[in-house]
Amino acid sequence: MQEQVKRTIVVTGGSRGIGRAICLSFAGPDTEIYFNYFPEDLEAAETIKLVEAQGGTAKGYCVNVISESDVNAFFDTIIEETGRIDVLINNAGITRDGLLVRMKEQDWDMVLNINLKGVFLCTKVVAKTMMKQRSGTIINMSSVVGVTGNGGQANYVASKAGLIGFTKTVAKELAPRGITVNAIAPGFIESDMTAVLPEKAREAMLSQIALGRPGQPEDIAGVAKFLASEAAAYITGQVIHVSGGMYM
Ligand code: NAP
Repeated sequence: MQEQVKRTIVVTGGSRGIGRAICLSFAGPDTEIYFNYFPEDLEAAETIKLVEAQGGTAKGYCVNVISESDVNAFFDTIIEETGRIDVLINNAGITRDGLLVRMKEQDWDMVLNINLKGVFLCTKVVAKTMMKQRSGTIINMSSVVGVTGNGGQANYVASKAGLIGFTKTVAKELAPRGITVNAIAPGFIESDMTAVLPEKAREAMLSQIALGRPGQPEDIAGVAKFLASEAAAYITGQVIHVSGGMYM
């Protein structure tokens, strides 16, 4: 019997939160999962352990998505080991919140660099491989606030809105090679990112959610898995809102 080729799945920011849940949703004997994180390696081992517990394999690397040389070396390693990349999920992201008039230039630069330039660097290198394969799926983690705006997050919102334009443009460029590119716009999802919000901000967010509860990382992971499946082969250039009706 012919051995089935395993799918290579790459998740940026896979050490915790939504990225970890995505790694777990793809975990199994038919996938090879690679993820990165930066700068903390405290949580990466746990992601690997959980993937292995599901009968899968995962490798985690400390790679800063804003370093072109490190990003290229990361993907070179993956190509050397598996010869292909089937799914890229650009999930790594940070916040440095503050009102516009108090926002420091370095907080603007850091958020735009990690959330937007990092996606450009990873997508550029992976697109070349997927174009040769004539197949692949890229999923970018935007945010509901990239569509609605949100006071106190000018840098973050600009990065997530930028990702939507980037997604649509790259979807058009890569469609002729059979590659799909979509964005997910999560609402309020429980993770380390939202755990630091003051109670008042949390209550304000929750009051906007039609379903009346925060989302879980698994709510996002399920949609990522769907977008990377055959069932979603005819979907490209779209922004899928997963926000419990926070935005309609
Ligand atoms: P999280 O729990 O804070 O996890 C962030 C992940 O990104 C971690 O794995 C982190 O690595 C990694 N990372 C940060 N900077 C990096 C860099 N320079 N290079 C490589 N990896 C880096 O965040 P989350 O809540 O899971 O969010 C995941 C994505 O969903 C983000 O893009 C976020 O903007 C988006 N999102 C989240 C929500 C929400 O409500 N949580 C809503 C909308 C959109 P370390 O572990 O090493 O720090």
